[in-house]
Amino acid sequence: MKIKSNKNKYYYSKKIYTKIKNNKKIKEEILVALKKKEFKLYIQPKYKTETKIISGGEVLIRWNKNNEIIYPDKFINELEKRGLIYLIDIYVLKIICKKLEEWNNNKYKKIKISINQSQENLLNHFYISKIKDILNRYNFNKQLLEIELTESIFIKNKNKVKELEEKLHSENLLISIDDFGTGYSSYYLLSEIKVDILKLDKKLFDNLENERALIIVEAIINLAKKLNIKTIAEGIETDKQYEIVKKLKCDEIQGYYFAKPMPIEEFEKIIK
Ligand code: C2E
Ligand code: CA
Ligand code: CA
Repeated sequence: MKIKSNKNKYYYSKKIYTKIKNNKKIKEEILVALKKKEFKLYIQPKYKTETKIISGGEVLIRWNKNNEIIYPDKFINELEKRGLIYLIDIYVLKIICKKLEEWNNNKYKKIKISINQSQENLLNHFYISKIKDILNRYNFNKQLLEIELTESIFIKNKNKVKELEEKLHSENLLISIDDFGTGYSSYYLLSEIKVDILKLDKKLFDNLENERALIIVEAIINLAKKLNIKTIAEGIETDKQYEIVKKLKCDEIQGYYFAKPMPIEEFEKIIK
């Protein structure tokens, strides 16, 4: 990069230069870690509320670095800021497609699996072509793969999101809104965009003794039912929470009360 003589420009260029240099270093580190298979897919099971039968799972990434498990909160944000999260999200997609193909051909329960995909990637049409390309390489029922989007994508990119929804649905994928109910919860967007699943955020279930909070959760679940959208309660930890969610007829549950995220090999044993 050419560093100009003007004082401000010099400073600016130097900053960019350092960032690019760091990005390159971090990218190499991630690529080496991927090659060494240090990134592990964990899956947290989801259950039907009424019957407590397993109904699906969410893939959550872990970095096993020098025998220490690093949780996504420690690296996802940084990689997102640097525009490098696609390395992880594509890796997860490839592995899970391969697994779904394997599970579809053998005697495994046919249940849906969701993956987290960072929004910056999904709004890029090269990335969508990459997704299509990977999906085409594996043979499985695409209705078993769910893409979790966060609420903020809907707020910031109203126009592009409709297009994204259509593209993902044309590949037969399922779409869910993650952490629903904590951000701006744009109900208007629910009328515009056909999502399949609402994942109700853990925070909504943290103070259900508060009658007003309970009324709101009940209203969200009933609204979703009328729109033909499935609901799943996240972060359920206690028997009391489970009983309330059951009474409110939320379709599914994901939380420590039933199971913590587990290595994919362990999850496989459950669905065999
Ligand atoms: P998330 O998508 O909201 O995932 C749910 C988080 O809540 C997970 O944390 C899960 O372990 C945790 N959790 C589940 N049940 C309970 C519960 O009953 N109580 C409590 N206290 N926590 C519960 P985790 O695995 O640390 O993941 C954190 C975030 O990192 C995820 O939040 C997701 O946004 C992101 N993430 C994870 N894997 C990926 C990935 O492959 N790609 C991208 N882009 N993001 C990922
Ligand atoms: Ca999620
Ligand atoms: Ca969530």
